[in-house]
Amino acid sequence: MTMKILGSMEIGILVFFFFALGTTLAQTSYTLAPGVKDAYSRISSAADVKKGVEFIKADHANTIVEQRQICEIPAPPFKERVRAEDYLKRLTALGLKDVQMDKEGNVFGVRPGTGKGPKLLVAAHLDTVFPEGTDVKVREKDGKLYAPGIADDSRGLAVLLGIVRAFNASGIKTKGDIVFCGNVGEEGLGDLRGVKALFRDHKDIKGFISIDGAHAEEITFLATGSHRYEITYKGPGGHSYSAFGLPSATHALGRAIAKIAELKTPENPKTTFTVGTVRGGTSINSIAAEASMQMDMRSNGEKELLELEAKFLEIVKNAVAEENARWNSDKMTVQIKLVGDRPAGSQDQDANIVQAVWASAVATRQKPMLVEPKSTDSNLPISLGIPAITIGGGGKEGNTHSPSEWYDPADAHLGVQQAFLTILGLVGVDGVTEPLLPKKN
Ligand SMILES: [Zn+2]
Repeated sequence: MTMKILGSMEIGILVFFFFALGTTLAQTSYTLAPGVKDAYSRISSAADVKKGVEFIKADHANTIVEQRQICEIPAPPFKERVRAEDYLKRLTALGLKDVQMDKEGNVFGVRPGTGKGPKLLVAAHLDTVFPEGTDVKVREKDGKLYAPGIADDSRGLAVLLGIVRAFNASGIKTKGDIVFCGNVGEEGLGDLRGVKALFRDHKDIKGFISIDGAHAEEITFLATGSHRYEITYKGPGGHSYSAFGLPSATHALGRAIAKIAELKTPENPKTTFTVGTVRGGTSINSIAAEASMQMDMRSNGEKELLELEAKFLEIVKNAVAEENARWNSDKMTVQIKLVGDRPAGSQDQDANIVQAVWASAVATRQKPMLVEPKSTDSNLPISLGIPAITIGGGGKEGNTHSPSEWYDPADAHLGVQQAFLTILGLVGVDGVTEPLLPKKN
């Protein structure tokens, strides 16, 4: 991604810099609350925390070995099972409690706290975007690793295991329980099915961290929601000349699209739509019996997303009535299928979870930034009002979601240290700090 400086402005003593990321902005300056600063100075100077942080640096090579091993187990969408079973074994071997696979296919285990803190879920997604048969063998060249899925999200999965090892090596006692999870269904039509199941089945989770890909310094805390539909108009069909007078599926579709094209959506929160594909008809001289479209709608606000969806569905249904009325018929019908549903949501940029990861990035001498809203596993908890962030696991990545995906492991341990410290701040360290997460939502 190329970045270009747009400009800067001063507000009081704070200087904000904005970088262009596509058409949106990333914020690279931020003020930490005194309470958070204080918590992190105590966390950073605790002897067992220092031990954990040093362990992570020394453990770097092990994390890379596991990242490669995990990458080489194919995990196409809806076919994460083999990788999940392998991951379950790794979680068990690290001594986590209650290690299990749920009905959806998520695997997780718990590191219990003292019982006086909030429960935090830390997850990385098991699925890749790559279909069965993709060559996932990792190749190394000039210090970089090449393989589909080597960063997204083999990195996150390996980072979680490295963090558990650091806990084991340091013996830190946390106040809150930490659940480490490899979850299914993050990519594409997986539609967040993994986190949907986790938050449906576990109402006691008070915070969520998704570790996804490399770039640890990029903090996602806002959720772009999306609803996707496949709409199919169906009519009787017939000869264009001899059956003239029957309603047409392509004409009904055209009526709908003409009105969709005129929809107006807010700029803020950014709300978008497009009819991505259309298909249908039988031949040039046939009244179309079937015609369909795929529609994608997105928004950074859940209310705006639902408003857009309501208008869209009204247009889709009205097109049936209009096409039938035109030919005095009742033969045109429509099938409406929701094929994607990711909720939108936002939280305060000064929420403790954002503060905690920022403080942890600073403590590990990185340059954090708050990035534009995205669609990640954090969408689901954010939409429920549960504090959540998505961060990278360290190192660099490129050509993500393509067969030439690469990962550069230089200094990648910084991402593991950052996540480790973030977790400690959120759940609280026994005898050192109170949890930064609320105990109740
Ligand atoms: Zn990912």
